Amino acid sequence: MFADIIVDVSVKSLDRPFQYLVPEEMVADAVIGASVIIPFGKGNREMKGYIIGLSGTAKYDIHKTKSILRVEKQGVVAESHLLSLAYWIKENFGGTMNDAIKAVMPVRKEVKEKVARHIIPALSRKEMEQKKVYFEQKHNTARARILQGLLEQKDYEKGAPYETFLHRFKATAALLKGLEEKGILKIVSKQIYRDPLSDNRVVTKAKVLNEEQRTIVEQFITDFDAGIRKDYLIHGVTGSGKTEVYMNLIDHVLQKGKQAIVLIPEIALTFQTVQRFYGRFGSKVSIMHSRLSAGERYDQFVRAKRGEIQIMIGPRSALFTPFSNLGLIVIDEEHESSYQSDSPPKYHAREVAVQRAKMLHASVVMGSATPSLEAYYRCQTGEYSLMTLTKRAGNAQMAEVEIADLRAELKARNFSIFSRRLQEEIKVRLQKREQIILFINRRGYAGFVSCRECGEVIQCDSCSVAMKPHEYKGKVSILKCHYCGAQKQMPKVCPACGSKYIGTFGLGTQQVEEMIHKHFPEARVLRMDADTTSGKEGHSRILQQFAQQKADILVGTQMIVKGHDFENVTLVGILAADLSLNTGSYRAAERTFALLAQACGRAGRGKKAGKVILQTYQPDHYSIQCAAAQDYKAFYRQEIAKRQMLQYPPISNILEVLVFSEKEEKAAMLAEVLKSKTISYHDMIVLGPNDAPIAKLRDVYRKILYIRSKDYQMLCNVKDHFEKFMQTSHMYNDCRITFTFNNES
Ligand code: ADP
Ligand code: ZN
Ligand code: ZN
Repeated sequence: MFADIIVDVSVKSLDRPFQYLVPEEMVADAVIGASVIIPFGKGNREMKGYIIGLSGTAKYDIHKTKSILRVEKQGVVAESHLLSLAYWIKENFGGTMNDAIKAVMPVRKEVKEKVARHIIPALSRKEMEQKKVYFEQKHNTARARILQGLLEQKDYEKGAPYETFLHRFKATAALLKGLEEKGILKIVSKQIYRDPLSDNRVVTKAKVLNEEQRTIVEQFITDFDAGIRKDYLIHGVTGSGKTEVYMNLIDHVLQKGKQAIVLIPEIALTFQTVQRFYGRFGSKVSIMHSRLSAGERYDQFVRAKRGEIQIMIGPRSALFTPFSNLGLIVIDEEHESSYQSDSPPKYHAREVAVQRAKMLHASVVMGSATPSLEAYYRCQTGEYSLMTLTKRAGNAQMAEVEIADLRAELKARNFSIFSRRLQEEIKVRLQKREQIILFINRRGYAGFVSCRECGEVIQCDSCSVAMKPHEYKGKVSILKCHYCGAQKQMPKVCPACGSKYIGTFGLGTQQVEEMIHKHFPEARVLRMDADTTSGKEGHSRILQQFAQQKADILVGTQMIVKGHDFENVTLVGILAADLSLNTGSYRAAERTFALLAQACGRAGRGKKAGKVILQTYQPDHYSIQCAAAQDYKAFYRQEIAKRQMLQYPPISNILEVLVFSEKEEKAAMLAEVLKSKTISYHDMIVLGPNDAPIAKLRDVYRKILYIRSKDYQMLCNVKDHFEKFMQTSHMYNDCRITFTFNNES
């Protein structure tokens, strides 16, 4: 038998299967997905590889075909459909097969499983008492102490961990072994799984669903039981009970003997959402995220494979949980940009989820209060089925949103970062001992030029995106559009109103914290940003403190707006709502709307009414207006019209090609060469090459090309063409390229 093997190196020129002979004695273990050790290259260096195919015929001279050295039996074997999925990912998103295999097998090698030993009594309680007395009489205090230890345990039958006896009861290994030999106790070793949830169980009961929720659950069940697979989008306002719906769907899927995966954004992982699932499904649930140790992650995959758990919750990588009978993939907060992988293969979890589900005849349920334009558009075209939740579940009302025009504040000579209305409202909450969230929209920090008096932002005339300031000798001199490369001089006065208050713009969390101390010295403040959340429990620690009302005000960046549910928060202040409108991306309006609508959704989640003050320099912008009105459909209508006009996704497709090199001329040259290769394709628009938004990173220059086409397959062909070119042309060995489809890198 022969095996096709992908070698474990991310080198494009080696990115093809190599055929090896499977020695007789390895045939049973050499299954598709197994990892193997092979002799590779001229020096026959031992390398790792993955079997992606098996056949009975040799492709090359059988005498020259090398043999597999060994099969790594302990490795996690990928289900063969996961390898097909890896191939699909490589074809549709670029990167090497090896990268793709690594993506679908996030846990590949065994990590030693912890074995815990436990001491349990081998005698009845009464006999044990007698034995203890016997040892005491014999002045055998060490043995008596150990038996006393066993008798003290709350649950006598269950005994206690081995370590407890060593430390608390001063036992030695020899003593314990002796007692075991006498038939007084038993030393049992059981493999314990490192259970990342073990400390967090709070049992939660299922809620009685409201009418809207019930309709969704019933529709899903009808389809599911009829053997119909679909991709659904639940568009439900914040707090409308989507999570409750997911849990009911999962319940049904589990009853039918199938398993479910729940994707949630990494940031929302450690706290409430996970607890709710765990509370409802207990030990059937496991989680997977980047803060777990390698051993913990390995255990979770093994448990999934052995059928010991039925639900896996996690970010992107949980998508590849090796369940044998997957029935449902839930994608919560479907619009989140963290579902886009930022390293090769740069896949989007939504697309891969749908593909895996198709392969296994499983369903996908996405949910969001602010769906991505892609997902909602596909509901319009009939690709996804739309289901809606229009009301908040329980008794909570939507918060009242007020827009504070920062231009007017300036005119009233209020130079504080807090508008007068926000200051008033903060005072009231502090008096009433209600809590406040202050949200700084820091995406796009300092990356654009605007007027403080009228709010005008300098945009590219042809691309409708903010232009990026470029510094020269510490001063901003020119502005560039990174899509088309257009340039403008940095204006001295605002082109719209003539004001001289024009410049770059930014605001940091620390700065805000200081301002709070100045304005409201009595307030207790918690700050949440990248600096304060390092470490394994960084996020949950701060959120828990806030939930326990140990602070009045929580200040933070986008990480505080997601999915958290604080009953006592009645005021949300959004300090610079428009910052993210100006990131220079065609998705800026969509991202801003989502962020603001989600932030508005944080207020008034409990019994008390909520209020949001949204501060902005661009109060008339449709993203701001629609977020304030919590009106997704109105936003969608305007945004999709813009995409239509400018031919941006989801109407058309954009392939972003990033070219990297330590030599700037080389990167620029390669980008030009690649551009010239697109001439032979029809109906394709190529923009660039230009400097990437981050033009240089760690001494590597980055050039960017945008290729636009209605035909996704055509863009894949271009990608293949480029990849082949990179494999064969040695002139650009010192360059690297990556691809991102329909998203920003
Ligand atoms: P979403 O995921 O849409 O933001 P959640 O599922 O978190 O909404 O629900 C919001 C709040 O409403 C939660 O506190 C949840 O326990 C509660 N809730 C959800 N469904 C119901 C229901 N049918 N009856 C009462 N409370 C509900
Ligand atoms: Zn102006
Ligand atoms: Zn432009």
